[in-house]
Amino acid sequence: HGAGGPLPHIPDDLTIVQFMLDHQHPSQPVAKGTNTWLIEDATGRKIGFEEIRSRTNALANAIAARWKIGESTVSATQYPCVFSPNHVDYPVMLWALHRIGVTVTTANPAYTAGELVHQLKTTATKLILVHPWNYATAVTAAKTVGIPSSNIILLEPLPNTTGGAQKQQHATVPELIAGGARAPKSYTERKLAPGEARTKIALLCFSSGTTGLPKAVAIPHYALIANVIQIAAYANSDKKPWETKSYRPGDVALAVLPFYHGYGLAYIMHFVLFYGMTLVVIPKFDFVNMLKSIQQYRINYVPVVPPMIVLFCKHPDVKKFDLSSVRAIVSGAAPLSAEMTQQLAAVLPDVSISQGYGMTETSVIVAMPRLDKKIATPGSSGVIIPGVTARVERSDGSLAPRGEPGELVVTGPAVALGYYKNEGATKETFVNGWVRTGDEVIIDENGELFIVDRIKELLKVKGFQVAPAELEGFLLDHPDVSDVCVVSILDDFSGDLPLAYVVPSAAAQQRIKANPAEADRIRRALIKYVADGKVAYKQLTAGVEFIDAIPKNPSGKLLRRFLREQAREKWKKG
Ligand code: AMP
Repeated sequence: HGAGGPLPHIPDDLTIVQFMLDHQHPSQPVAKGTNTWLIEDATGRKIGFEEIRSRTNALANAIAARWKIGESTVSATQYPCVFSPNHVDYPVMLWALHRIGVTVTTANPAYTAGELVHQLKTTATKLILVHPWNYATAVTAAKTVGIPSSNIILLEPLPNTTGGAQKQQHATVPELIAGGARAPKSYTERKLAPGEARTKIALLCFSSGTTGLPKAVAIPHYALIANVIQIAAYANSDKKPWETKSYRPGDVALAVLPFYHGYGLAYIMHFVLFYGMTLVVIPKFDFVNMLKSIQQYRINYVPVVPPMIVLFCKHPDVKKFDLSSVRAIVSGAAPLSAEMTQQLAAVLPDVSISQGYGMTETSVIVAMPRLDKKIATPGSSGVIIPGVTARVERSDGSLAPRGEPGELVVTGPAVALGYYKNEGATKETFVNGWVRTGDEVIIDENGELFIVDRIKELLKVKGFQVAPAELEGFLLDHPDVSDVCVVSILDDFSGDLPLAYVVPSAAAQQRIKANPAEADRIRRALIKYVADGKVAYKQLTAGVEFIDAIPKNPSGKLLRRFLREQAREKWKKG
């Protein structure tokens, strides 16, 4: 059972926007709106609670009036998509849509049009809110799925280089907010009946789960609210004096991890704001610029992914900046090795260094760093938070004794409802209210969680999800491929490096036979094919290996683990 004592009341009749903007919860350490909520990194513009609330309400008003959307007027199964890097209006967009009762899906702004199309189709999206940086991709994807250009809303006006006619087709968020603030109220706030927050979906976030293609995880309002309260309850259980805590209300926190993903969305955007901290909102990761921002805004709390820790350890510019404001660096989304933790502790001796653990399907945090340790136990992902119950299961389904490995299976108030419109996958991962994480773990005698290995297919490259099945499906469409299995080798910086075992098609084999140099050309062409069709982190950075046949068990299932071990052995030998 989770650490940190009893769980405070979790309201089940509020939407997340009401919880964040209209209600004061007992576990909230300071009154709402006490501190600046957001700082725009590039301009230094500060945005307080009241301004966010009025922007949210004005945008809700404008969208409801113009697109007549809202639960009752548009099919309840057509969900607006936010396709944008981090932006100070990101929470405003989500919360405005929640005000009018609409479910939102958040998309990775680095996606290619093909990847976005998969998301838009899965969620039957009819309205896209897009940042100008992602405009071209959004237009291509919108055309493919038949979304009219009048249903593409821009976060900011397009740059002046864009044609006038094209610009006029789209409403912009600032313009809608200005109009919505002036116009009489045109919408009725979506209120929930007692218990309704448990099933009313707030967000559809994409995850491939244990197997298969990326799927839409249905996160109800209650789950997100619960996770925020759970993390706050855990933080509040820290009885040390305020000045010695690694994070506290009034702190300035870094928001460079993307808001579209569970970690950025539930933890950084919702928990950190709820806890009365200020977020410095950074749209694009660039390590040196990030150091500059830390120095400029005196950032105290720094949530990261493991490759950023590697950069903190190795990048020569780290010494050039004043990082004395930093009190804590916390990693998540992928394993942080014990060596990296220790190396960073040597580089930044005054800073608390630790990692947490979470998953989109548990929306999102399951374990948080121990509060009594400045430097995390090597390899530890922290302790289970209040309200979560965890089980460690051996492969035969029996409970593993404490200290022995098995699959982590968890339950709690923040567990998602399942995969939207995908009963088969839901049944595999969501079992009687418990989530099978697909992670092999050990929980030790102190209740600390150690992630030992990943049992599921999922790969993580720099903390981003890569679904082998997605790359396999894509490669199978290539005429030179007759069968394929994607596995990974491990890398200190990126985590997983994807590698494709490919059985060449008959035609490709003939070409190779006639000219052995063809083999290399085909390998390079396949690597390029993936690079052109998929977002950068899905590239086959460990290459393509030809193989006579993909090993399968008698029922036709890929022997993925066998190939994975083979790849890793071979790589070790060089
Ligand atoms: P996502 O849904 O994208 O957050 O991915 C969740 C998965 O990321 C987990 O099931 C783990 O496999 C992995 N993960 C998250 N945090 C950690 C961690 N601290 N250590 C190891 N793996 C992690």
